[in-house]
Amino acid sequence: MKIIGAIKRLVDYNMKVHVKSDGSGVDIANVKMSMDPFDGIAVEEAVRLREAGVATEVIAVSAGAAQCQETLRTALAIGADRAILIETGEELQPPAVAKLLKAVIDREQPDLAILGKQAIDDDVNQTGQMLAALAGLPQATFASKVLVADGRLSVSREVDDGTETLSLKLPAIVTTDLRLNEPGYVTLPNIMKATKKPLETLKPENLGVNLNEQIRPRLKTLKVSEPPRRAAGVKVPDVQTLVEKLKTEAKVL
Ligand code: AMP
Repeated sequence: MKIIGAIKRLVDYNMKVHVKSDGSGVDIANVKMSMDPFDGIAVEEAVRLREAGVATEVIAVSAGAAQCQETLRTALAIGADRAILIETGEELQPPAVAKLLKAVIDREQPDLAILGKQAIDDDVNQTGQMLAALAGLPQATFASKVLVADGRLSVSREVDDGTETLSLKLPAIVTTDLRLNEPGYVTLPNIMKATKKPLETLKPENLGVNLNEQIRPRLKTLKVSEPPRRAAGVKVPDVQTLVEKLKTEAKVL
């Protein structure tokens, strides 16, 4: 069983970002970039399936700038066997990413593709669903447990009134929830090993995808602004004053 794990490179979740002065977006110059945390969970799950003898190969795939190679190396250090970078300088929105990943599915014929449920930069939560539609494959989103047995996939997912378990025919598309697993630390020996694993770089054209004609970005960002600053608090001398202020000044927002 072959598994593809999708990897998006984005601003590290520990970074404090600032909005550019012209309001056109977030300034990512000199900011640490990392893998989307949900994608770390996706690769971890794929590697665990391989270690359990269920899967035979894990391929990490990323679309974007040449620097995504670094992020793919992290996926290789987590344990992916090889990686594919679809290199492009074009802005990629979910329809374009889904189209590129669909082309990789056509080429690699995996039994399973695991994506994050959402990329934490734009939080759109669309790519997995679009990929399932384009590839005509069953999907289970927000997976908190994944089991493979008898050629089928059993996926548990949290829904409003409890846990839903879906049984899917393979090949299938899964998107990860935070509860699926907790990726461990990447060790130095694994980082060293990852430098020797195969990383193939393709252009969208090599996969038969023309980004300009087929999938132009459909959404335009009009303005990005910082959230309003929180007003400073006040210190009260004692509990009595606090209770008094709560009675007379506190407002329900
Ligand atoms: P989104 O639909 O943008 O919230 O992203 C959901 C998931 O799609 C991410 O967690 C990734 O697994 C995958 N994805 C999004 N963008 C890319 C990309 N440029 N390259 C590879 N995978 C991506």
